[in-house]
Amino acid sequence: MPDTRLIRTFLETHHPRLAEQASAFAMGEIAKRPEPVEDADARREARALLGLLGAGGWLQPILDLDLRGCCLIREALGEASPLADAVFALQGLGATPILLSGSPAQKDRWLGPIARGEVMTAFAMTESEAGSDVAAIATTARRDGPGYVLDGRKTLISNAGIADLYIVFASTDQAKGAKGLSCFLVPGDAAGLRFVGSQVLSAPHPLGEIAFENCRVPADALLGSEGRGYGVGLAALDRLRPTVAAAACGMAARALAESLTHVKQRKQFGTSLALFQLVQQKLARMATDLTAARLLTYRAAYEKDQGQERITSEAAMAKSFATEMAQRAVDDAVQLIGGRGVLASHPVERLYRAVRALRIYEGTTEIQQLIIAGELLK
Ligand SMILES: Cc1cc2nc3c(=O)[nH]c(=O)nc-3n(C[C@H](O)[C@H](O)[C@H](O)COP(=O)(O)OP(=O)(O)OC[C@H]3O[C@@H](n4cnc5c(N)ncnc54)[C@H](O)[C@@H]3O)c2cc1C
Repeated sequence: MPDTRLIRTFLETHHPRLAEQASAFAMGEIAKRPEPVEDADARREARALLGLLGAGGWLQPILDLDLRGCCLIREALGEASPLADAVFALQGLGATPILLSGSPAQKDRWLGPIARGEVMTAFAMTESEAGSDVAAIATTARRDGPGYVLDGRKTLISNAGIADLYIVFASTDQAKGAKGLSCFLVPGDAAGLRFVGSQVLSAPHPLGEIAFENCRVPADALLGSEGRGYGVGLAALDRLRPTVAAAACGMAARALAESLTHVKQRKQFGTSLALFQLVQQKLARMATDLTAARLLTYRAAYEKDQGQERITSEAAMAKSFATEMAQRAVDDAVQLIGGRGVLASHPVERLYRAVRALRIYEGTTEIQQLIIAGELLK
């Protein structure tokens, strides 16, 4: 269970109880679910997990703009099941742009069903030539009579093919680059929206490509105003990056817990592994790095919850530090557990496959470092 004493200066009175309940739910109900093997199973499981998260009220902190609450839940889910964590994360990425920039009608229509887990969302930004460089988005949205017509293709999209609602970034004025981007709400069953196919990841995660082919949407599908899409996207990512850091902390905490259990039980050379100093050094480093990452994470979330307009630097520090830390911690855990640690579906083997993507999605580590340096050099 996430240790809330460490971060208590950053929490409100309801948070420790939320952390306890989230951990009981994640370890009691989610962790025991078998890891899906095939992509089709992962897609079905993501839907089932969304139902559980919605029915349990776990998605409500997203709507309440309780960022520390979201971090506590992602920490608990990251510890129990990276797939469940991804399902939570995607609802955040779907709801947040609507919360921050939606019209009253858009909020009315979508937010309740998203929080109840009835509508699964996807955040469609990345394209083959527009990864870190979002301004290079080539999908277009052309004004046509009362609405827009979208054309283009998106890649590496989580929940592609199973989402009910896509938050789509497209250019309404290609000459303006980032300033010409706009954001649209496109229902999964819109005519002209096609699921191209799955992109299968090493860890279970519904990922894939979608195409817009003469896809007509009404004018009220526009989120915010024309040309504001880049701002809408960045504001959501800025807000949610501490939650990626929290998920990384949860995965690292699980790696540390599995390591501790193992080294206390396992005997080699006639004694417990826990007594070897090289083993202790790894444990000490994992615990120290995890502590530092959690402090950075909840500091960033605290600042946002206190009403700070932008937490650009705080969020980038938390995301880059925590995800790099989690990768090292999971790798150390596999090393400490030895051969059993690489056997399929050992908890640390699952983490090993899942943790890698966190350093890439929602802005790579290098992009976070550029953001931090940019703020320093302002
Ligand atoms: C599991 C997973 C889920 C994802 N889900 C989604 C999703 O739901 N929606 C979505 O829109 N996208 C999603 N993505 C895509 C993700 O956001 C992109 O992969 C990410 O932004 C990086 O883009 P890229 O892969 O094209 O890499 P590139 O941008 O090509 O980067 C490749 C390498 O170059 C480095 N690099 C790039 N620019 C610079 C620079 N200026 N200075 C220094 N180094 C640089 C990067 O840090 C990286 O190491 C997902 C990705 C993964 C792995």
